[in-house]
Order: sequence, then structure tokens, then C-alpha cells
Amino acid sequence: MIGLLLPAVAGAAAVGTVAMGAYHPNSPLFGPVIGRGPPAGRRVYLTFDDGPNPTATEAILDALAAAAVPAAFFMVGDHVRRFPALARRVASGAGVRHEIGNHTEHHVKLHVAGPARIRQELESAHRAIVDATGRRPRVFRAPHGYRNPFVGRAARRLGYRVFGWTFGVWDSDRPMPDEIRRRVRTKLRPGAIVLLHDGDGYDPAGDRRPTAHALPGIIADARALGYEFGSLTELCP
Ligand SMILES: [Zn+2]
Repeated sequence: MIGLLLPAVAGAAAVGTVAMGAYHPNSPLFGPVIGRGPPAGRRVYLTFDDGPNPTATEAILDALAAAAVPAAFFMVGDHVRRFPALARRVASGAGVRHEIGNHTEHHVKLHVAGPARIRQELESAHRAIVDATGRRPRVFRAPHGYRNPFVGRAARRLGYRVFGWTFGVWDSDRPMPDEIRRRVRTKLRPGAIVLLHDGDGYDPAGDRRPTAHALPGIIADARALGYEFGSLTELCP
């Protein structure tokens, strides 16, 4: 009986390992991923996914500029094509240099996609960002963090570093701004890459105002706790 059970257990463990690699944003199983900064010191990193977005991106840029805080924006190619002026505003940054990242053309769950589709998703978003902003993105984040072995290969072809994140706060569920702010404050720790959303991966004009409204308080809280804001480029080896 034990002899019969063991292969099944080993098989389940292998499936579990692969699932961990597919679903966990920072798993190195399918290639190197940067999921946090150095735990020594007091630097944290703000990242915004799924934009550009007409309800929130400008307000977020204004809040970042007012506080001189750099951030990274992982953009959906289709949204860049719809709102190229917003993408350009991110690139101009109003005095702050923000990192612009690739987040696929259509916010596709890549772990179930084949190599051709994955390449197409990354290359198409790359082109949209270059055309709209004149900047070559150097960083990539997979939608939901879902990957398979072809994702790292496609990202490397474009010269990207792949990023995960340290924590999110489910701001995409649109809790009240004070609640978003509270969640970030309680989870903040040295080196954290914070996942927030200036857009909605599946709705180009999805409402992200709660995140925009929460941002000045998030920045104030972090600084009161002694944190400084860094740029993801510092973490690229
Ligand atoms: Zn996303």
C-alpha cells in the first residue's frame, strides 16, 4: 500500500512545485525574478500596474511629483495605444524619473499561453510603449505574476529584468482610500516592492480613484516611518 502511495505523493509534490512556479510572482523556477530590494536600510519601491488609465494615472503622477517620489508603471500595451498622452505623461514624470515597464499587450494570463503568443504579447506591448513614449522599457512584470518557462525566455530576448512584488493590498477591489493606506502602512518593511494599481487589466477605463486618493497618505506614512523611496533600476543587477 505504501509502495503504491509513494509515487502518487511524489507526483503531487512535483505538480505542486510547478504550480508554485506558475502562480507565485517571485518563484525563480521559470527564470530569475526580483521580488524585493535589500532588507538592510529603509528603502521601499512603489509600483503601479495595468495603466495608463484616465481615472487615476494623472492624479498619481501629480502626487508623486509633489512629493518627489519615483515609481514604476507596468503598462498594458492596449491601454498605451488608447491613452498615449497619459503614457507620455508618465515618461515625462514632471521632474521625477519613473520607470516604465511592460505588462503584456492584453493582460494575458501567460502560464497557459504558448511561446508564440507570449512573444507576441511582450513584443507588441514593447512597441506600443516605445511608440508612445520614446522610451525602451527594461523591466517586465507578468499579469498576476503567472509565468511558465517561455516567459523568461521572451523577456530575456527583449533585454528585460523580470519583477514580482513583495506585497499587494488588494486595492483593485476598490476599498476606501483610508483602508488602502492602512494596509500599506501595516505591511511596509525594508526593501518592499509595493504592488498598487493605476489601471484595471481588463477594463481600460476601470475606476482606480481610491488608489490615487490613498497615495499622498501612503507616502506620508512611509516617510514618517523613516522610509525612502527608491527606483527599481537600483535593483537590476
Ligand atoms: Zn496586472
